[in-house]
Amino acid sequence: MHYPNTQLFIAGQWRDSKDGRTIDVRDPATDEVIGTVAHAGIADLDDAIAAVEEGFRIWSQTSAFERSKLMRKAADIFRERADELAWIMTREQGKPLPEAKGEILAGADVIDWFAEEARRTYGQIIPGRVPGVAQMAIKLPVGPVAAFTPWNFPINQVVRKLSAALAAGCSIIVKAPEETPAAPAALVRAFVDAGVPAGVVNLVYGVPAEISEYLIPHPVIRKISFTGSTSVGKHLAALAGQHMKRATMELGGHAPAIVFDDADLEKAVKLLSASKFRNAGQVCVSPTRFLVQDGAFDTFLDGITAAAKAIKVGNGLDAGTQMGPLANERRIPALEELVADAVSNGAELKTGGKRSGNQGNFFEPTVLANVPVKARIMNEEPFGPVAIVNRFSNAQEAITEANRLPFGLASYAFTRSAETMRELGTRVEAGMMTINHIGLALPEVPFGGIKDSGYGTEGGSEAIEAYLMTKFITQTAG
Ligand code: NAD
Repeated sequence: MHYPNTQLFIAGQWRDSKDGRTIDVRDPATDEVIGTVAHAGIADLDDAIAAVEEGFRIWSQTSAFERSKLMRKAADIFRERADELAWIMTREQGKPLPEAKGEILAGADVIDWFAEEARRTYGQIIPGRVPGVAQMAIKLPVGPVAAFTPWNFPINQVVRKLSAALAAGCSIIVKAPEETPAAPAALVRAFVDAGVPAGVVNLVYGVPAEISEYLIPHPVIRKISFTGSTSVGKHLAALAGQHMKRATMELGGHAPAIVFDDADLEKAVKLLSASKFRNAGQVCVSPTRFLVQDGAFDTFLDGITAAAKAIKVGNGLDAGTQMGPLANERRIPALEELVADAVSNGAELKTGGKRSGNQGNFFEPTVLANVPVKARIMNEEPFGPVAIVNRFSNAQEAITEANRLPFGLASYAFTRSAETMRELGTRVEAGMMTINHIGLALPEVPFGGIKDSGYGTEGGSEAIEAYLMTKFITQTAG
């Protein structure tokens, strides 16, 4: 198989940037430069702006029925290419091949889901006060969108924004990740091959701050969607606010996973450890603070430590690999510092804690126990394969710890008590909670956070609303 170089896609054309600049793409498992990605400058962004404006004119006038049909065709094309694309994604991102393929197939489901939603952007008829007055609230696409997506799920992060925007009738410029450019480009190609008109979807790469600072204030852009860290999200949300742009922010998390004495512990260990180390922990909804009740603590800690030690870490292309490298070299020193800081604050390092091997960005699956709240890792998102296992005595204590941080994205719980489930469901401050199983992130269910984890949802029937405006029309006979 061949790893492709990635170009910009603007106004229906794959092209290099005007000044010919490129950025290298590396395989995080081998450090090898495997290709390049075109680096957009302001002149390219100007072209993208002109294209997205024209794309909006065309796409907003295309019927929802037709948009839906084209999207479903794109989903089919994309699905057919899953094997080849999985290889590309693993090369640039590092995740094991089956995870890459799973992400692509899930991406096709997202397109299908939003294709159906396109046909259901219903408005309202509001009874008039005077006979003969018709009052309507109709839904219209909000306008051209600028979307910024990260490298941890090269397809999933783009496909949610792209599909919701297209379903609503919006055109879009996607600033996809420079680290993992070829997978998002393949997604865009599926839409192009399905027949989506020129200008409706545009794809750029470059210096993220330069692009966001140019696109967000631009008068043509009416809606922003960003996934990434809370610090960058706050900066972009402020910029969007300053220019009165609608925004969806899907930011960092520090998910609590609360395990009670009465839980099925075997199941809790199995599901939570798989969830923790999936994608090497580079997941915004990754369980991070494992809060385990006194009576279950030792069994859970031993179980997750054994699970971490048993994980087969390696090149995602090798059969049997369960965890690949981190996507970015810079995350290795960041994680090593977080672990060292925890240990110096009195935490117990049960396994892992350091770089693995002398090639690629491999980091050992890591378990820390009894980590004091003052340790940095108890407060900052590790975004890597590190589990923190701490104990609690009663539900109140667990809920207080779960809610201590400013984040509020995902949360997890294992218990057999209906009363505890009810209490956690309402009192844990998080946009999502999954109890006794791992059930997050399907296209048909809400996906989003509260507090510093952002606002808006990227799943479920509400997700398309972010790309729609409500217009009120009142009329009477002329
Ligand atoms: P980072 O904060 O430098 O970047 C995060 C993402 O934002 C990247 O995709 C980057 O290209 C983009 N970005 C950065 N500055 C930007 C700007 N001014 N305008 C537009 N986009 C910008 O961090 P990183 O080292 O790439 O990743 C580590 C942190 O990012 C993690 O700790 C995690 O909190 C966060 N992150 C979150 C998600 C998520 O799914 N919510 C995904 C990736 C990274």
